[in-house]
Amino acid sequence: MVIIMLGAPGTGKGTVAGILKEKLNIPQVSTGDIFRKNMKEGTKLGKLAESYISKGKLVPDDVTIDIVKNRLDEKDVENGIILDGFPRTVKQAEELDKILESKGKKVDIVVNLTTPKEEIIERIVNRRVCSNQDCKTIYNIVLNPPKKEGICDKCGSELIKRKDDNVETVEARLENYFEVTSPLVEYYEKKGNLYSTMVSKTINKLGQDVAKELVEKLKNK
Ligand code: ADP
Ligand code: ZN
Repeated sequence: MVIIMLGAPGTGKGTVAGILKEKLNIPQVSTGDIFRKNMKEGTKLGKLAESYISKGKLVPDDVTIDIVKNRLDEKDVENGIILDGFPRTVKQAEELDKILESKGKKVDIVVNLTTPKEEIIERIVNRRVCSNQDCKTIYNIVLNPPKKEGICDKCGSELIKRKDDNVETVEARLENYFEVTSPLVEYYEKKGNLYSTMVSKTINKLGQDVAKELVEKLKNK
């Protein structure tokens, strides 16, 4: 099963994907996480990615598509994958379709999350992530704080704030989303596999609730 997480930054893609991964036992592949891992290790890819990410810009298509193409060749994703943060441009979506087609696969469901802008900014600023690469649990210090400040409930590792999670880059990231990523909503709507839902405290629905809904829906598929 190929699941795509679509939505502006801070809508809860990572949270939903993390829960789906556990419940459905399908690997989660986040292009953002791959870039951050490379940035931390100081690789060539990491340096290149950082020059874009630090400005709130998207990493170029050719680089990003190559990464996902190679990742899709790995054995662990043969039976399913949750793509979190990819595709983010129409070009990426078209290339993904080609890659999947060559493997006799297709995108099964596109989960499109929407959140009011003010809430997105608030969430991004309050977001903390577990520094343990195998855990990566996401917290919100206001809405969903850890039991012990700065420490992951699940694995006890230190929580960190992403460098790009600041008010300066968030506007640029949102602009990117509305300009180049949001056309994907229509792209997938036309294909008939879009599942859109709002994630917002105003309707008392957070990522955890969406994940629950999806697990029920996908279990019967
Ligand atoms: P968020 O959804 O909060 O922006 P991500 O971890 O998905 O977080 O992405 C972080 C950054 O990594 C993005 O702002 C962008 O610069 C880069 N990035 C991630 N995925 C892609 C992609 N598919 N194409 C281009 N750039 C990407
Ligand atoms: Zn953790």
